[in-house]
Amino acid sequence: MKALSSRQQLFDGLAIGASFICLIHCLALPLLIMLLPALAAYMVVPDSFHVWALVFAAPVSLLALSAGYRRHRGANPLLIALPGLALMAIGALAAPSQWMETALTVPGVLLLAIGHALNWHKLRLAGQIRS
Ligand SMILES: [Zn+2]
Repeated sequence: MKALSSRQQLFDGLAIGASFICLIHCLALPLLIMLLPALAAYMVVPDSFHVWALVFAAPVSLLALSAGYRRHRGANPLLIALPGLALMAIGALAAPSQWMETALTVPGVLLLAIGHALNWHKLRLAGQIRS
C-alpha cells in the first residue's frame, strides 16, 4: 500500500509539474522574449511543445486520477481535470492560431493542476498519503 501511495503522489506531482512548465512556456516565455528580443535567437521552443506536453500529461493524469478515484471515491478531481485535458488537447491539436492555442492551453493546464491538487488533498483526507 505504501508503494502505491507514493507512486500516486509521484504521478499527481508530475502532472502538476507539467502544468507549471507549460504555464511558464505559455506565459513567461513570450513575456521574456518581448522584453529581451535577443533571447528569441537562443531559446527555440518547438511548435510541437504542447503536443508533447499532452502526450506526457494525459496518461500520467488519467492514471493518477483514476487510481485516486478508486481510493477516495470523489469525482471532483476528475470533473475538474478532464475538461482541462480536453482544452489542452484542442489547443495542441486543433487550435487555428498561436493565440488561440495559448487561450485554450492556459485555462486547460490550470484546471489540470487544480484537479490534481484536489486529488492529492482528497487522498490525504482519506488517509492514503502520509506526509
Ligand atoms: Zn505552453
